[in-house]
Amino acid sequence: MTNKYQPTWTLAAVYQLTPEMLKEKGIKGVLVDLDNTLVAWNNPDGTDELRVWIRRMKEAKIPVVVISNNSAPRIRRVVDKLELPYISRALKPFSHGLRRAGKMLQLPVASLVMVGDQLMTDIRAANRIGMRSILVKPLIESDAWDTRINRWRERRQLKKIYRDGKIQWKTELEE
Ligand SMILES: [Mg+2]
Repeated sequence: MTNKYQPTWTLAAVYQLTPEMLKEKGIKGVLVDLDNTLVAWNNPDGTDELRVWIRRMKEAKIPVVVISNNSAPRIRRVVDKLELPYISRALKPFSHGLRRAGKMLQLPVASLVMVGDQLMTDIRAANRIGMRSILVKPLIESDAWDTRINRWRERRQLKKIYRDGKIQWKTELEE
């Protein structure tokens, strides 16, 4: 039986995702969470690794859309420099924002993947509409207090999904 918080794949970081890996899985577009997936809260400008990754995706013509529960001004501070489209107030764990992104890209749900660091929001939203998903390791562990409460709930789910709650962070998309 599949758990509603079960990601399709795990990956140590979003930067490890290559156009080749996506093509092999029939994925044509990437929806990505902002906080702690794309950028760490204490480094909103992102890293060189991130910029290289975005350029690589652009060259491969794989669109990347930021899907965040945050407000537009907060998201724009980060994505304007990176030149990425975004969906604000996505209301994850609901799938509303993910659907909007699919319409924006004119791509079906089956050809998209949702990448995020939280089971309770990112992965849950993807599972609600049968979209494949990738759980990534949070960029930094310390976080806002509300996220910490979520982390506690996450750990409970992780224990149900993975033995001992320990995730095997992969470098490839392996089931
Ligand atoms: Mg996040």
